[in-house]
Amino acid sequence: MGWSEVLFPSLVVCGFLGTILLVGIGASYLWLVWLNKQTTTCPKCGKKGAGRLVESKVIDAKTHLEGAAGLPSDEEWRTHTSGLHQDAKAVRIIEETYEDHFECQHCGYRWTREAQWTRSAPTKKPSPR
Ligand SMILES: [Zn+2]
Repeated sequence: MGWSEVLFPSLVVCGFLGTILLVGIGASYLWLVWLNKQTTTCPKCGKKGAGRLVESKVIDAKTHLEGAAGLPSDEEWRTHTSGLHQDAKAVRIIEETYEDHFECQHCGYRWTREAQWTRSAPTKKPSPR
């Protein structure tokens, strides 16, 4: 068996996998673009991608600790932001609800959309105020 007989199938497999990878990246990119167009489609005139985000504000935020013994309530958390009552291993989970304000660049129609965002923050080093 010569080198070319081993090399050729490997190249075919590599090329195949590479194509799948590229198609995957391309598909997810197109999906993101599509998703973005869906969110920015004007509900009034139906113009795709015409919506422009003019304002985004947090309308609701829930905070809870995960992994801590004796979960403090939101109120307790606010009182003890200095880091006194915190378990070093605990992770602060922040659930924020955003209200996004869009404005259509085509007809000027304004609409709002709610979006939820969950993020975690370490409790070990609270950010200095
Ligand atoms: Zn419009």
